Amino acid sequence: MLMQAERELVAEYGRRMSADRLSTGTSGNLSVYDPERGLMAISPSGMAYSAIRPEDVVVTDLNANIVEGERRPSSEWALHTEFYRCKPDARAVAHTHSVFCTTFAVLGLPLRAVHYVIGDAHTDEIPCAPYETYGTPELARAAAQTCGAGRAVLLANHGLVACGGSMEEAYGLACNLEFVAELQYRAMCIGTPNVLSREQMAQVLEKFRTYGQPR
Ligand code: 13P
Ligand code: ZN
Repeated sequence: MLMQAERELVAEYGRRMSADRLSTGTSGNLSVYDPERGLMAISPSGMAYSAIRPEDVVVTDLNANIVEGERRPSSEWALHTEFYRCKPDARAVAHTHSVFCTTFAVLGLPLRAVHYVIGDAHTDEIPCAPYETYGTPELARAAAQTCGAGRAVLLANHGLVACGGSMEEAYGLACNLEFVAELQYRAMCIGTPNVLSREQMAQVLEKFRTYGQPR
């Protein structure tokens, strides 16, 4: 099976996305990209994550030509390919409708640096892209343009897109941003959150370059 390891990852992280409640029903989608082959493994459209087997994951090129797989690929394939085109370091994309991120997306408000872990997105603010219909090239373009140099963007009245150097990174970022969004929401319920300054976040971003175990 072509891209077996990547297809297994998409199936495994789909189950996780459901269990971690970052997705309800069949919402959201995941992909892993292999730049050497110019191919991505993307979740099938409208299938319950509990039912997705590696062979249900679809292998396409960046123009959505199906290279292997019987299923129809995610309706958001253009969103995923746009990120791989615009972000040379991206190897995985996670799109979720997680509740707290989507709450701010409904308000058209960015996620702010209410907690330093927002720096996982390589930026100090997660902007919100203007509303476009799901599954359209317009949404893909608006998302990538608004995202800028960071690794994540909110989609107005829709959800979140996060990318990373691996599925672990992209998914971990989606989890961290849901945490930040929940804190921002809770803090705004009872007061006005303190937002970390550019300088404070610059120090965090510098430290994040060497966070964890040496590679
Ligand atoms: P798919 O099931 O086609 O991936 O669509 C889910 C979604 O979140 C659309 O934005
Ligand atoms: Zn969606």
